[in-house]
Amino acid sequence: MKYQPIDSSKSPRFCGNRTFMRLPEIQALEDVDFIVTGVPFDTGCSFRSGARFGPQAVREASILLRPYNYEQDINIFEHVSGADYGDIDIIPGYILETYERMIDQLKPVYKKGVIPICIGGDHSISLGELRALKEANGPVALVHFDSHSDTWDNYWGMRYTHGTPFRRALEEGCLIPEKSIQLGMRGPLYEPGDIKDAREFGFEVLTSGDIHRKGIDFAAERIQKKTGDGTPVLVSFDIDFLDPAYAPGTGTPEIGGFTTWEAQELVRKGLRGLNFKGFDLVEVLPASDHGDITSFAAAGIIYEFITQIASNKKK
Ligand code: MN
Ligand code: MN
Repeated sequence: MKYQPIDSSKSPRFCGNRTFMRLPEIQALEDVDFIVTGVPFDTGCSFRSGARFGPQAVREASILLRPYNYEQDINIFEHVSGADYGDIDIIPGYILETYERMIDQLKPVYKKGVIPICIGGDHSISLGELRALKEANGPVALVHFDSHSDTWDNYWGMRYTHGTPFRRALEEGCLIPEKSIQLGMRGPLYEPGDIKDAREFGFEVLTSGDIHRKGIDFAAERIQKKTGDGTPVLVSFDIDFLDPAYAPGTGTPEIGGFTTWEAQELVRKGLRGLNFKGFDLVEVLPASDHGDITSFAAAGIIYEFITQIASNKKK
């Protein structure tokens, strides 16, 4: 394929500047199946800030990734061409203006049928993706991994935060609620509505308790049943889906989560064959990380996303 990682058998993996998986850093959409782009906006967060440094930390960890995915038996770049598109020029502290910039930069990507993988930043960026997607392609189903539902109405009276993107997206007609599923919600809540509201919107919600009790395969089947019919899908993965033991570098950690292996399995089995329009991986906060384990986990989850795109091309 046209754009692939630097061959690490010729140039050691620690050489050169950091792009995702050592892909070429270009803003091209011709002969490109997917792009990876940083969206380093973190002033939508409600607790620990610093996810603006997430994209570069995840790129740094990603240089270790190899092109053959053994678990899915596929050599990714035999089937897809990809680029590191650089970062979107967000404006710290100005969320609505940042959304406008995201729409300007992402809409042509979606329109071209290229799949963007956005690295956050905090979870507020998903609304920028969904607005751009709606303008380019119309509403999509949401497959959302997170310990939080992010469907609150407001924080301190403010409607645009990292805790509110999916309620706003629904109100704005960006989502198909009856085709959407949220997985991993847990932790102390303010009130029952924090989960119940999402179910009333029409989302299927599998809490962490549901998944721990019924298993990863059950959760994967539910994703397939909900969205596996060809509906266009945005996959949004908040790294706090993982337990803080596996992802301490995040802004609002919640205990009782998942191992990296469980997340890999769920992403491998649950997302197989879906009609992807976009992905994001958000809330990596390097300053709270230890030994880069959160960044490695994030890079590894994105690797599974890219593998899914490649598997769809292989068919
Ligand atoms: Mn979130
Ligand atoms: Mn979260």
